[in-house]
Amino acid sequence: MSSNSGENSVSARSFQRVVLVHYHEIGLKGKNRSRFEERLRKNLEDLCQGFPLVTIHRIAGRLIVFFKEGTDREETLRCARFIATVPGVARVSCGLKCPRDLELMTACAIEAVAEAGDAQSFKVAARRNHTDFPIHSMEMNQLIGASLCEAFPALKVRMKDPDLTVGVEVVQNASYVYCMSIRGVGGLPVGSSGTLMALLSSGIDSPVALWRCARRGAVCHAVHFSGRPQTSDASEYLVEDIARVLEQSGCIASVSVVPFGDYQREIALTCPPSLRIILYRRMMLRIAERLAGRVGARALVTGESLGQVASQTLENICVTDDAVRMPVFRPLIGNDKLEIIDEAKRIGTFEISSQDAPDCCTLFMPRTPATHARLEAVREAEAAFPVDRWIEEICAAAEVHEYRHPALARS
Ligand code: ATP
Ligand code: MG
Repeated sequence: MSSNSGENSVSARSFQRVVLVHYHEIGLKGKNRSRFEERLRKNLEDLCQGFPLVTIHRIAGRLIVFFKEGTDREETLRCARFIATVPGVARVSCGLKCPRDLELMTACAIEAVAEAGDAQSFKVAARRNHTDFPIHSMEMNQLIGASLCEAFPALKVRMKDPDLTVGVEVVQNASYVYCMSIRGVGGLPVGSSGTLMALLSSGIDSPVALWRCARRGAVCHAVHFSGRPQTSDASEYLVEDIARVLEQSGCIASVSVVPFGDYQREIALTCPPSLRIILYRRMMLRIAERLAGRVGARALVTGESLGQVASQTLENICVTDDAVRMPVFRPLIGNDKLEIIDEAKRIGTFEISSQDAPDCCTLFMPRTPATHARLEAVREAEAAFPVDRWIEEICAAAEVHEYRHPALARS
């Protein structure tokens, strides 16, 4: 958007480009608030290492990201877009920092509106954190608003649903002006809700389930069951790619890859075909529970949704859960496949998950799996193989891949 008066542009460069990070829920957490804020601050510092950051400060209920001198607008915008993907972030704005001087603040507002591009309406939302600044927020709204109307004659003031909201925040020794906001993923910063162990296939659902738990602040480890040596290791590469995507926003801590093919073969040879899938699943949960103990995880996560396939009927879910003592979280239980696909696209795992790879899911599948398995029948079938010994063997063979995680200090 072009402004009326050239002299109003902040030519003296008395401003500094910053990114403001807003969070909602953290604010609701009462006395835990500062712990959550500090967690988010540290997570962002750790995850933003690829950007020219100097530091991130907590200022008046926001985090402010400061950049190296000379960092251009594009770069701060790229960083803001990235920050919006990090759990705990409700909204991100690119803004300008300037001294507490109404004239400079107005100049910054004009610059910010000019940068925001096409818009027909706006409002100013000023906030004064310190009453030692003599101008009230209402007055700032009016004064800065009037200057904006003058600088951009085509722009109309609109209090309800304006195209642009020009935020002005006056804090103790500076002020911040911003108008472009990007919606963040929300949730809580990872590392603030305990540790979980997710069963991660290379399919569409389980990466979404894991991501949802990470978004609620959990440190998520994962276990992947490979069909190796009965299948190739193709699914392991896909899971690796999925983990790399999740790693970017700090959502995954490790993947333990477990060669499961021989054990499935054994189950397939000894047990009634209709019960195979349930028996595989019960073994998977037991192994996941054991691996969870190694990393201090207190619950398991799967990508199941009610009735999606035969193994995900209510009866089968109950029979599966009977194998472990840990709670099993199923964050997708009430979602339709299309919703899950949309979410996988947003997270960035969909394309990887859409590639076909044989894993233990495709191995030794029965033609007609039981949809209403009976617990006694399942336990009886299981008596045919040495469950405890297998768990030991399989966990001993697990290959652990660690990922960079902002809440875990690893050397
Ligand atoms: P997904 O797309 O997550 O694979 P799905 O709809 O294909 O799910 P199933 O194959 O029945 O459903 O798997 C149900 C859940 O069991 C998965 O969401 C995942 O949590 C777990 N699971 C299945 N296969 C594996 C595997 N090879 N490794 C780890 N977990 C698995
Ligand atoms: Mg699957």
